[in-house]
Amino acid sequence: MSSMKYDIIIIGCGISGMTAAIYALRSDKSVLILEKESIGGQISSSPLIENYPGYQKISGMELSNNLYEQVINLGGVIELEEVTEIKIGKEKEVITTDNTYKSDAIIIATGAKHRLLGLENEINLIGNGIHFCVTCDGAFYKDKDVCVVGGGNSAVTNALMLSDICKNVYIIQNLDDLTAEKTLKDRINKKENVTIYYESSVKEIKGEEELEEIVISTKDEKEKKLKVDGMFISIGLEPQSNFVKQLLKVNNFDYIESDENCMTNIKGIFVAGDVRSKKVRQLTTAVNDGTIAAIEAVEYINNL
Ligand SMILES: Cc1cc2nc3c(=O)[nH]c(=O)nc-3n(C[C@H](O)[C@H](O)[C@H](O)COP(=O)(O)OP(=O)(O)OC[C@H]3O[C@@H](n4cnc5c(N)ncnc54)[C@H](O)[C@@H]3O)c2cc1C
Repeated sequence: MSSMKYDIIIIGCGISGMTAAIYALRSDKSVLILEKESIGGQISSSPLIENYPGYQKISGMELSNNLYEQVINLGGVIELEEVTEIKIGKEKEVITTDNTYKSDAIIIATGAKHRLLGLENEINLIGNGIHFCVTCDGAFYKDKDVCVVGGGNSAVTNALMLSDICKNVYIIQNLDDLTAEKTLKDRINKKENVTIYYESSVKEIKGEEELEEIVISTKDEKEKKLKVDGMFISIGLEPQSNFVKQLLKVNNFDYIESDENCMTNIKGIFVAGDVRSKKVRQLTTAVNDGTIAAIEAVEYINNL
C-alpha cells in the first residue's frame, strides 16, 4: 500500500486522458494515469480510423501506441489499476484496487462503453462487420446491405445516415414502435430502402472472419435470416462514472456534468472525453476536452 503524490491524476488512459497528460506534462506537472483495462481505451478496438485530422487512414492501435510513447517520453507514469473512489479532504485522494494516491487536481477521462447484445461472436466481429458509430464506419458500407439494432434517436439517426449510402438498411427494434422523436420517425418512414422489423431481436450472428448473416426472431415469422455486410448496434452507451456518481453532478444518463472549461461541480476535478455530458462523442472532441481539462487543471494548481 503506497500513498504517492502527483500534481495531476488522470483516470482513464484513452485518447482524452493521454491528450490531457501530454498538455500537463509539457507544463512541467507530474502526472499519473490510472487505467483499469487497456491502454488506448475504445479506440484500440477500431481497426481503421478515417476521420482523425492529419491521418488519411490510421489503425486505432497505431494511434494509441503513438500517444502512449508520447506520454512516456514526456515522463508520464501509467499504472494499470482500477479507481474505485475519490475522496475529497484537505487533499484529493484517488483510491484504486491496490493503492491510494494523492494529487492537487484530478481529470476523469473514463469514457463510455457501447451496450452489447450479449451474443456469441459479437465481440470477435467488432470492427469486422459489427460497429457502433456510423459517422466513423458507415462509409465502409457504401452500396451494401446493413442493419441497425435499436429504435431510439441514435438508432434512427444512424439508419438515416446509412440509408443515404447503403443499398438496404434493416432496423431491428424489440418494441412495437420506434422510440425516436417524431421528426426522425417521419423521415425514416419515407425512406424506400429501409425496412423496419418491429418486436424483433437478433438471435444469432454468423461469420468467422467477417460478419456474413444474422438470424432474427420476428413478430410473425419465428426466425428470419438476413444477409448483411454490416451491423450497427445502437442500443446505448454506458458512461463509466459509477465510482464518482455520489460525489459529482451527473445528468439523467450518468454522464458527468461540467462547465465549458471541463470543471465539474467540485473545484479541481475536471472531466474529459466520452464520460462528459455533451452531444458529440468522437476522437476529436475527446482530444478537445483533454486539452481544455489539462490547461484548466494546470491553471487551478498554479493558483493554489
Ligand atoms: C469500435 C469503435 C470505433 C470507433 N471509431 C471511431 C472513429 O473512427 N472516429 C472517431 O472519431 N471516433 C471513433 N470511435 C469513438 C471514439 O473511440 C471515442 O469517442 C473516444 O475513443 C473516447 O475517448 P475517451 O478517452 O473519452 O474514452 P475511452 O476511449 O473510453 O477511454 C477511457 C478509458 O478509461 C478506462 N477506465 C474506465 N473506468 C476506469 C476506472 N474506474 N479506473 C481506471 N480506468 C478506467 C477505460 O478502461 C478506458 O481505457 C470509435 C469507438 C469504437 C468503440
